[in-house]
Amino acid sequence: MAKISFIGLGNMGLPMAQNLAKAGHEVTGFDALPAARDAAAEAGLKIGESNAQVAEVAEIVILMLPNGQIVKAVAEEVLSALPKGSLLIDCSTIDVSSAKDLHKMANSAGVLSLDAPVSGGVGGAAGGTLTFMVGGSQDAFEVGAPYFEIMGQKAVHCGNGGSGQSAKICNNMMLGISMIATCEAFAMAEKLGLSQSALFDVVSTSSGSCWSVNTYCPVPGVGPQSPADNDYKAGFAAALMLKDMDLSQQAAGSVDAATPLGEHATQLYKQMVDEGQGGADFSAIIHHLNKK
Ligand code: NAD
Repeated sequence: MAKISFIGLGNMGLPMAQNLAKAGHEVTGFDALPAARDAAAEAGLKIGESNAQVAEVAEIVILMLPNGQIVKAVAEEVLSALPKGSLLIDCSTIDVSSAKDLHKMANSAGVLSLDAPVSGGVGGAAGGTLTFMVGGSQDAFEVGAPYFEIMGQKAVHCGNGGSGQSAKICNNMMLGISMIATCEAFAMAEKLGLSQSALFDVVSTSSGSCWSVNTYCPVPGVGPQSPADNDYKAGFAAALMLKDMDLSQQAAGSVDAATPLGEHATQLYKQMVDEGQGGADFSAIIHHLNKK
């Protein structure tokens, strides 16, 4: 059984750490926020004294933190304490450039590293059904794979350092755009006098079908259960979608990629968040479009 330290015990990190502990690993957690440490301790997780202290005793350190700046700051604390040959896995969603920096920092410290952002949200974290998109060396991936298996249902090795984050933002940019396309069509159908369930029946088995229609339809009472059926309670909050859309635009700018729809979709989610709807599910953007 491995000695694993888990840093960042928020909505995602705590259930992921708990699943590793349940599988029999020796897991020690840490979070900068006392309330998060208390909640984790109450949930039965062993809590350490600092980011550096939990790294000292670990074979594997997993990070689940808010952004690239924090990830790099925590990595600095952790890498000076981690034994050589151990593995650092960053599961946070961060910018590609910080992810690449992290691999360089780990390499200089003689530590293996993986960027491994996830898809699946809080439900996937609790249920151990996340999908991991992983960047880093084959050696590092082989060491990390058994732990991805516990926390998730699938881990795809996407390529060198940074490719996990690249895959994540490409996927989420597509999702952000396709949700708006779906909302536009359903809102227009209503104005045309077309029943939304008829539109669902057609589109879900036609060329317009996509995850936003088939699995996560933004209209209440249409298709399988989705946040729309629960008053648009997130789900995947619009503020998190905006974070990922912003990361996609940052990455697009860095390589001069043309993403005109990505850019426009980012603006629409920003308007929704600026109107105070950042806590709602991102599919509630249908209300924003309906208002126009
Ligand atoms: P969260 O805010 O609930 O958790 C982050 C935790 O990191 C907090 O408890 C915070 O106190 C802690 N933290 C911040 N700075 C720290 C530091 N210097 N040292 C130690 N701990 C520190 O966020 P979350 O929803 O758990 O998301 C975590 C990551 O996962 C983010 O990058 C997010 O984009 C990504 N993600 C979230 C979801 C989701 O549905 N929530 C889905 C996929 C990916």
